[in-house]
Amino acid sequence: MGTYAVTGSASGMGKAAADRLRTDGHTVIGVDLKDVEIVADLSTSAGRADAAARVLTLAGGILDGAVLAAGLGPVPGRERLIGEVNYFGVVDLLTAWRPALAAADSAKVVVFSSNSTTTVPLVPGGTVRGFLAGNLDRAIRPTKKFGKNGAAFVYAGSKIAVTRWMRRTAVTKEWAGAGIRLNAIAPGAILTPLLQRQLDDPATAGAVNSFPVPIGGFGTAESIADWVAFMLSPNGNFLVGAVIVVDGGSDAYFRSDDWPVPVPVSGVLRYFQLSKKFRSNKGIPCVR
Ligand code: NAD
Repeated sequence: MGTYAVTGSASGMGKAAADRLRTDGHTVIGVDLKDVEIVADLSTSAGRADAAARVLTLAGGILDGAVLAAGLGPVPGRERLIGEVNYFGVVDLLTAWRPALAAADSAKVVVFSSNSTTTVPLVPGGTVRGFLAGNLDRAIRPTKKFGKNGAAFVYAGSKIAVTRWMRRTAVTKEWAGAGIRLNAIAPGAILTPLLQRQLDDPATAGAVNSFPVPIGGFGTAESIADWVAFMLSPNGNFLVGAVIVVDGGSDAYFRSDDWPVPVPVSGVLRYFQLSKKFRSNKGIPCVR
């Protein structure tokens, strides 16, 4: 049985994942604003550092895995909070936990992305680049022109950036090379308190209810928790840098032909350079 850190474990999908891991016999160290083992505010860098350190102490320096589910929805006026929790609340914690994950045998991490990464149009590239550069002001600036709709672009931008960070990081020698499997789940509309708040608000209910979901209805937190448990199990040993989309078909509906795509002519040189680098062991020296 393993020890897992789960952020956002007081509600919704984080709570369902924590419950499922405990039912399976694992030890869970929950991180949230209330009602969990470690009460911490992931919207500040001091709160993130405190949460990261206290998890490491409770885990005794070895983590078998982590689930990064804490997050805010696209609520107008909360743009900074959204960016702080959804992007830095993942990157800062995982960076601090990496040695403890590497110390375990075959550690596995699931980051909560979202299908908004591929279904929200016109997310400014500057927002994604701002997050990846670690600069929240730069990330938010290009969304201001959208007024109160800007929160939706900060939200989708934070999820695109955290997913790109995950994919870039997953394949490095410090992560895959150290035996850590880093992946993301991208849920669509899942009926949690976060979605319920959007359904209860007349300003957002229409958009949620009319959003195309080919299979119909909403997903459940418990079914997402089952996916998370599967990704954290030995079945996930060969899963690295993957984004598992569980959204009733919305992404496929809007983007059916956008992936997979062959490497374009402009990318062939880089493709061969990366192959050569990997062969010469400058990339990942050894994946367990
Ligand atoms: P939720 O609101 O039910 O749970 C989120 C949890 O994060 C809450 O317990 C909350 O207290 C915690 N949290 C928020 N701010 C925090 C902070 N500053 N410090 C510590 N904890 C904080 O939401 P959910 O629907 O279960 O969402 C889980 C994740 O899935 C989020 O990252 C969300 O963006 C993402 N997501 C949700 C949906 C959906 O439809 N529900 C869809 C796609 C992605």
